[in-house]
Amino acid sequence: MKITEHIKAAEGKSLFSFEILPPLKGHNIQSIYQSIDPLMEFDPPFIDVTYHREEYVYSERDNGLLEKKIVRKRPGTVGICAAIQSRYGVDAVPHILCGGFSKEDTENFLIDIDFLGIKNVMALRGDAVKSEIYFKPEPDGNCYASDLVTQIREMNKGNYLDEVIEKGHNTDFCVGVAGYPEKHMEAPSLDKDIQRLKEKIEAGAEYVVTQMFFDNERFFEFVEKCRESGITVPIIPGLKPIATKRQLSVIPHRFHVDMPDCLIKEVEKCKDNKEVRQVGVEWCIQQSRELVARGVPVLHYYSMGKSTNIQKIASAVF
Ligand code: FAD
Repeated sequence: MKITEHIKAAEGKSLFSFEILPPLKGHNIQSIYQSIDPLMEFDPPFIDVTYHREEYVYSERDNGLLEKKIVRKRPGTVGICAAIQSRYGVDAVPHILCGGFSKEDTENFLIDIDFLGIKNVMALRGDAVKSEIYFKPEPDGNCYASDLVTQIREMNKGNYLDEVIEKGHNTDFCVGVAGYPEKHMEAPSLDKDIQRLKEKIEAGAEYVVTQMFFDNERFFEFVEKCRESGITVPIIPGLKPIATKRQLSVIPHRFHVDMPDCLIKEVEKCKDNKEVRQVGVEWCIQQSRELVARGVPVLHYYSMGKSTNIQKIASAVF
């Protein structure tokens, strides 16, 4: 089923879903099952699987010259989605990027997931690779997530890149896109970023999943601004419980989100990460309960492969 159909079928009840990362190359799928199994009791209608593009790694050769190697540390997004759908019978949502994909690669990826019976896809631009300051699309790839959404919409109409095909099979993907309650790091302002979000919806996206946030007010203000700008699709909050002291600096740096002072104080008081996890879980429970009370369609958790905290939160909320 499409995400939008799941939301409609829930008739106003907030659903539970989460996102997982493919394991590091060299690991098997058991770790994925171990992280999903304990969360199945909360009936997730869908599970997102992130996509990780190649990274450029430099290593020094014997002659002192630097050798550039292309490494994909977490391949397997499509295979994991197929495994999830067959093992659990829930909808898997693969993420797809502009970065590292030509339009042809994108088309082939979409053909694969269509053949696997995958109905939903999360369309993202992706970040710049570590060796570059700015995001660089492939010469024949999509520049922005809105361009990627347009390509998917064209396939939904049966229009493929290859002009030789007179009439292609119509795919029927429901497309999700990312939203940023605290604005995307490259956007000049929140209003401008919301205008860009609206372009993704106008291109054909049917729902939004947000970046993590730790202050619900930022989410509520964001939703209000989106509605004022004419965005009417479901907006799904993304949540992550803090688990280590280090995340106090890593998360703002990596995801460009603020943390409320009282959360920072609580985490700083902890004597070890076991206590931090407890604080993170309690904070996330409070956030989740308030979001449910305000009628969000889905609570979407960034599990990062660690299900214990998400299980504690979901037990308290659902
Ligand atoms: P876009 O919507 O294309 O926006 C990127 C920037 O460009 C924004 O600042 C926007 O304001 C601006 N912009 C948009 N259109 C235009 C235009 N026409 N002209 C000028 N500026 C424009 N990354 C991964 O690598 N793998 C994942 O699986 C993954 N999953 C994610 C899931 C969620 C829910 C979220 C919130 C993020 C995820 N990311 C993932 C990270 C994401 O790829 C980055 O945040 C990336 O930097 C932006 O992607 P986007 O799709 O929001 O880009």
